[in-house]
Amino acid sequence: MPLDVDHLIARYGHLDGKDLLAALIKGELAGRVAVTSSFGAESAVLLDLVAQVDPATPVIFLDTDELFDETIEYRTQLERRLGLTNVVVVRPSDEELKDAADLWRTDEDRCCELRKVRPLARAVSGYDALVDGRKRAHGAERENLATLSDGGGVLKVSPLATWSAEAIEAYFVAHDLPRHPLVAQNYRSIGCWPCTRPVEPGQSPREGRWAGKNKSECGIHTKSLGR
Ligand code: SF4
Repeated sequence: MPLDVDHLIARYGHLDGKDLLAALIKGELAGRVAVTSSFGAESAVLLDLVAQVDPATPVIFLDTDELFDETIEYRTQLERRLGLTNVVVVRPSDEELKDAADLWRTDEDRCCELRKVRPLARAVSGYDALVDGRKRAHGAERENLATLSDGGGVLKVSPLATWSAEAIEAYFVAHDLPRHPLVAQNYRSIGCWPCTRPVEPGQSPREGRWAGKNKSECGIHTKSLGR
């Protein structure tokens, strides 16, 4: 039976943060919820909330083969610190990697399609709800982000959509969460190394992604992921 996304939005759309995660992970979507995480600059907050609800929740980590070494190390650190027991590492196929070789220099959209969108679509095909760490405070396409939305037959869940940068920072401090090592060098949104830059004071975190290009999203949050 197709997922009744409208029903879920009407029932749970007033919740956010841990309350929303608990209602979905422990409630009527139990066993059908996956979290996608870049293990980037702000990821620890969402992952800490997920771990409090159920540390065995599947957390899908997409290794594009172009990540910073610091991100790989931080993933291991956070996984241990938070007690996450079901981190799933997803990679592009050998053929996708071959087709995407150096493509970030000439065609970023195609590179993201091969390294990110296709591998992630395969990994999440069995889930009904996908949790991510997007926030309105990131600006651009995310300014009007809802906590729940229809991702083409799958429920997209952004429990931190309405959280401000100050609320995220306060959570880091209150819970003594470890920082991604590159945050100390002013990296505020961290993806693949060729397409990530530090930002200046006053810039939004996302301005460090595909800087100078007419691109602000890779497609994993804006495409239907094949459903
Ligand atoms: S972020 Fe850059 S390197 Fe990573 S998949 Fe997209 S274009 Fe390629």
